[in-house]
Amino acid sequence: HGPGDIVSLQDLLRPDLRGRTPYGAPQLDVPVAVNTNESSYPVPPEVVETILRRVGEVAPTLNRYPDREFTALRQALAAYLARTTGVPLQTDRLWAGNGSNEVLLHIVQAFGGHGRTALGFTPSYSMHPIIAATAGTAWVDGLRDSDPTVFDIDAELAVRQAREADPQVVFLCSPNNPTGTALDLEVVRAVYDAAPRAIVVVDEAYAEFARPGTPSAITLLEGRDRLVVTRTMSKAFACAGLRLGYLTAAPELIDLLRLVRMPYHLSSVTQATALAALEHADTMLSMVDAIKATRDRLVQGTTDLGLQPVPSDANFVLVGGFADARHTWQALLERGVLVRDVGIPHHLRITAGTPDEAEAVLAALRDVLDTTG
Ligand code: PMP
Repeated sequence: HGPGDIVSLQDLLRPDLRGRTPYGAPQLDVPVAVNTNESSYPVPPEVVETILRRVGEVAPTLNRYPDREFTALRQALAAYLARTTGVPLQTDRLWAGNGSNEVLLHIVQAFGGHGRTALGFTPSYSMHPIIAATAGTAWVDGLRDSDPTVFDIDAELAVRQAREADPQVVFLCSPNNPTGTALDLEVVRAVYDAAPRAIVVVDEAYAEFARPGTPSAITLLEGRDRLVVTRTMSKAFACAGLRLGYLTAAPELIDLLRLVRMPYHLSSVTQATALAALEHADTMLSMVDAIKATRDRLVQGTTDLGLQPVPSDANFVLVGGFADARHTWQALLERGVLVRDVGIPHHLRITAGTPDEAEAVLAALRDVLDTTG
């Protein structure tokens, strides 16, 4: 064998990765892109100004590595969470990464891995099993309910599956992507107790959009050293392009995440930009109310069309009642509307964008349903 030999790269790939497909939400240039649960609202000019100023301040120092412990950013994130949840939080309970995907990866790198198991309750965020797999973690695909058309988690069934799988990592998601509804905290408590050797992750990427009276799992952290709650600036903070996700957990757990992160994983530019956005938290979050109103409009509008939207605590709505979801997805795309086919039969997921986008989605839906019956 010499350097010119043809070797199939598939054969060189880690056996547990062969035949897998990468994450691939389409990024298409269409008039109405409502398929990845981003904010449709651009960053307001006054926030852009602060971002430019803060990035300008760090630009001459880019010859140096960033603050490895991103202390100022952790302080700002802790203050934001404490203010919005009422739970007092110190900097040592905060961790961040390039998107919540990266902080989730840190969890499985530290607590999952080869010979270990992660449990999730499907349908949920499609990246949870992929992130587990990248770290070589076995995946147990749990059921949310014995009836696959019910999307709320049945606590008793979840407990039974947690006992059986005896996992090292459990993924919960509240509000759940792609179904939209928040979890009863009773489920979190029950699963935590039923999996005594597991890190229990509650992915709260959409928490800020929850309907009134929905408490965060952050209120459960006290006395639960294996509980982790993840958040992101990609949704409510309208900063998907920034790539900043974070988590809160016991200080001892956060200390262990330092074992797996790459040194200086949050660039100076990222830290400066995130700090600027957090300085304007109220402005950034003022769009959340508008988005919630648009979400409720989508729920009402799709109900009026004879469809079956799932109750939503998020910035999207899972809509059921399509004879052929794939066909409707294509027909909507032909009308300039990109929604998400999440693989649940008869359902499509629609992000709540601007009011105009919601009306465009509803008009396109009406047209498609009129044409296809
Ligand atoms: N968790 C959930 C439930 C999500 O829906 C998403 C994004 N679609 C993420 C995490 C990851 O978001 P990010 O990496 O942008 O923080």
